[in-house]
Amino acid sequence: MSRARPNIVIVGGGIGGLFVANALVTHGLEVSVYEQAPALGEVGAGVYITPNSVRHLQRVGLGPAVEKRGAKVGENSAYYRYDGRLIASVQVTDSMGWNATYGMHRADLVDILANALPAGVVRTGHRCTGFERREGTARVSFANGAVAEGDMVIGADGIHSVLRAFVFPPPRPVFSGTVAYRGVIRAELVTEWPAERWEMWLGKGKHFLTYPLRSGSLINFVGFVPVDEKTKEEMKESWSAPGDPDALRREFAGWDPRIGTLLKQVETTFRSALHDREPSPAWTKGRLTLLGDAAHAMLPHLGQGANQSIEDGMALATILANCTREAVPGALLAYERLRRERTAKVQSGARENGLRYDSFHADLNVRDAEIAGHAAFRKGLYDHDVVPEARAAAMELS
Ligand SMILES: Cc1cc2nc3c(=O)[nH]c(=O)nc-3n(C[C@H](O)[C@H](O)[C@H](O)COP(=O)(O)OP(=O)(O)OC[C@H]3O[C@@H](n4cnc5c(N)ncnc54)[C@H](O)[C@@H]3O)c2cc1C
Repeated sequence: MSRARPNIVIVGGGIGGLFVANALVTHGLEVSVYEQAPALGEVGAGVYITPNSVRHLQRVGLGPAVEKRGAKVGENSAYYRYDGRLIASVQVTDSMGWNATYGMHRADLVDILANALPAGVVRTGHRCTGFERREGTARVSFANGAVAEGDMVIGADGIHSVLRAFVFPPPRPVFSGTVAYRGVIRAELVTEWPAERWEMWLGKGKHFLTYPLRSGSLINFVGFVPVDEKTKEEMKESWSAPGDPDALRREFAGWDPRIGTLLKQVETTFRSALHDREPSPAWTKGRLTLLGDAAHAMLPHLGQGANQSIEDGMALATILANCTREAVPGALLAYERLRRERTAKVQSGARENGLRYDSFHADLNVRDAEIAGHAAFRKGLYDHDVVPEARAAAMELS
């Protein structure tokens, strides 16, 4: 008997690839995930997950694991001026007051997503190098000589996506002028630190962010600082170039003394140059589509890159739930149509927010009023549920 339902090849075992695999398995679809790294894992830093993606993690059965291994972010979270004067509180709930915002260690989130999949689904040590369209199927090849063929391929291979080039000539990465120093500190080393708060300090051209991970046992920090043209040329888009803790301490010297107390404990830090891309005019070609950063790399100033990749995965799995093998190309286009406008809005919103955070406003009261007013935008972001729209899109196809 011939198979009616598609089997799906996913390239990339990051947050987006692993989440979409979970969502597809929930709908009874056959998937395999190919990851280039020899083992799954992530550099040691945090990711902020918000109600618009947590509702999907819950739908695939991962709510309890997120609750257990994440750190719920409290509603007493706040923005400050560089010296610690309060600007405004931070919107962490949706407009119904539902607080499902967590800080998570990236390695924990990857681990939860990977362990929820059936054994054998994830294959590490597979670096994708090629893509080929065949009659009614799609095929990827790997540097180790292996090939994988399926009724469709999802390129969830991140900001440097190899598969993107098989859809559309990739737009060039745009450098924001900013680098991020990231790392974690054991909370027991800074005992007076408020366990559950997301906090951000805003100064001229720089900002500093902290939030809790692992039930508050770790503090995640990110220092965003501008770099000159020379440094910009030297730095590649990277998650894991080592950063100098003393350079980080110097960047924030003279700020709120709480930051100094925290940074005293930093022994290692990573430094990454922050890039995004212009929204891409196309993500899908035939039986190949893109998801997450491969489709819409964005700056981290709304904390939405991982959240949007989870929304993508839920939308795609919902549309594919009852799709036949023959209907795959139409279903992939429906997914792209559904997601493109929302993700482009979040991409541009993240750029705008970065400019707002790092602005040189003559009148800081204007900047502070904008920061306070931004809560309304966040509520809209967090209220969004992609599933009803995806079901409607699937109905239109049938
Ligand atoms: C400083 C900073 C802070 C951030 N903070 C947040 C935050 O708080 N909240 C949030 O939502 N987002 C945040 N983000 C963004 C977020 O990390 C990304 O948007 C998210 O990880 C995207 O997931 P992804 O699966 O698309 O890509 P990735 O997580 O990058 O995963 C891609 C995977 O594909 C693999 N891969 C790549 N090429 C190949 C290949 N050729 N073959 C096989 N495998 C391959 C990679 O090894 C990787 O495992 C932040 C980003 C930065 C830079």
